[in-house]
Amino acid sequence: MGLLTSTDFDLIEDVRRGRPVPLSAFTEGTDPITRQVIEYGGLFGFNVARFQGRAYVPPIQTPRRPMTLAEKILARHMRVDAVRDVVGVPAVQPGDAGFVVADWRFSHEYVTPMAAIYLERLVGPDARVTDPASVLCFRDHLTYLDLVMPEEKRRMGLLDLAHELKVRQEEFCRKQGIRLHGELPDRRGSEAICHSIMLETYALPGQVIVGTDSHTTHIGAIGCFAFGIGTTDIFNAWITKDVRIRVPETVLVRIEGPKPQGVTAKDIVLAILRHPFVKSGQAIGKVIEFDGETVRAMSVDERATLTNMTAEIGGFTGIVAPDEKTVEFLVERRGLRRSEAERLCEGLWSDPDAEYATVLTFRADELRPLVALPGDPGNGLFIDELPAEVWVDIAYGGSCTGGKAEDMDMYALVLYEALEQGRRVHPRVRFYIQFGSQEVRRYCERRGYLKIFQDAGAIILEPSCGACINAGPGASTSPDQVTISAQNRNFPGRSGPGQVYLASPLTVAASAVAGKITEYRPLHVECVERFLHHRFE
Ligand code: SF4
Repeated sequence: MGLLTSTDFDLIEDVRRGRPVPLSAFTEGTDPITRQVIEYGGLFGFNVARFQGRAYVPPIQTPRRPMTLAEKILARHMRVDAVRDVVGVPAVQPGDAGFVVADWRFSHEYVTPMAAIYLERLVGPDARVTDPASVLCFRDHLTYLDLVMPEEKRRMGLLDLAHELKVRQEEFCRKQGIRLHGELPDRRGSEAICHSIMLETYALPGQVIVGTDSHTTHIGAIGCFAFGIGTTDIFNAWITKDVRIRVPETVLVRIEGPKPQGVTAKDIVLAILRHPFVKSGQAIGKVIEFDGETVRAMSVDERATLTNMTAEIGGFTGIVAPDEKTVEFLVERRGLRRSEAERLCEGLWSDPDAEYATVLTFRADELRPLVALPGDPGNGLFIDELPAEVWVDIAYGGSCTGGKAEDMDMYALVLYEALEQGRRVHPRVRFYIQFGSQEVRRYCERRGYLKIFQDAGAIILEPSCGACINAGPGASTSPDQVTISAQNRNFPGRSGPGQVYLASPLTVAASAVAGKITEYRPLHVECVERFLHHRFE
């Protein structure tokens, strides 16, 4: 149905005993949209009624008010009238409910086939997706699965099932005329992880983007309102182009002060994750807007580490207001004309007197490199406070969080310095470097990083989610293995049975060389200069 219909556990007994349960037992106390979704038998039934003018969506009547950036984007995209296709209201406030029109809708192989089945069963075998040019699909999660799936799981048919997901998605995209970013034609690997390519190729400031992945928030780094949705929502959005939303409150996270050398966005987000406000769950469901001197000095890649890990913070989405860095990104990485990039960013900021649920301030200049201890990304600890040395077996530099161009700069810098000292990846460590996209791979080729990675003994992998979800090289195979990883979450079992410590790309590479968790310390200025010179040769 696309929603949780009841939390009244007494109903379970009635259902068990076969007693009739009145519909009102599920609709009592719900808002008008939820009530109608239940009464129409689900989101799809309600949407049919909405587009036929039979369902009632209470109008948003919020008068003009100072708004946050997220509220401004939602106000621009709020659908007022589904029948006449009127979009946009003067203002919204937290709690306003309705449907926002998405500029992009995307899904990956985990979800596309199930949503395609809904489409065929509920709409019909000839059902068409609306405006397929703004729909995208990705084959990114399971590209390397066959290299790591244990025999007993193969015997259960799980590999065949995973292969079937790929085939079904390909069929669906062919039939619907949807662009599929799939597997590489000539070697193992994907074109890209979905969020990586969305940020590199498609998203623009001020857009609403929905994707079937919790880390869709990644894309908010250039000032989009991007959030994860489930199977029912994407299937409905394929037809309606809109998604149900209740405007969330916004938390402003200000990060001030110059970053000390060796402190990265990953260290900052690990510090945010251990803040009591976040640990006590108060950020759940809220928009997290990142601002402050430190954020404004960050590249879009580093900002994306913050917005990506808004999922771990529990936020609805993360967002950074577009600025000169965003314009530079759009010009240099996306090929837009400067005037066009500046026009897209116009008006995309929070009003000075906008209301926030709370403001959290962090001092970057008081931070040192952190790791999150195994089990939860909120287990952050300064590396110099680790009670004992932690020897590592696997270092993983990849995933959507750690597979961006600037992450590659960091792996390359550390390995370049190691080579200058006559050192390589520690013999007991397997260091995997996995690109987030083919564009990142090409960036590394241009900069000469592939040779650095190879000379230093790292194992290079084509894009895929892989080890991040225990579906590729770099995943652990026994509980005693220790991994240091640039990915975003380390819940038990997430990347195999071993112990996963989360850290920045600098820490991951430095630990791979040292063989134990170690913070990066630059060699000397001349070496960094030689590296920078090398990059641009
Ligand atoms: S790399 Fe990991 S976190 Fe990122 S999209 Fe893939 S599975 Fe999700």
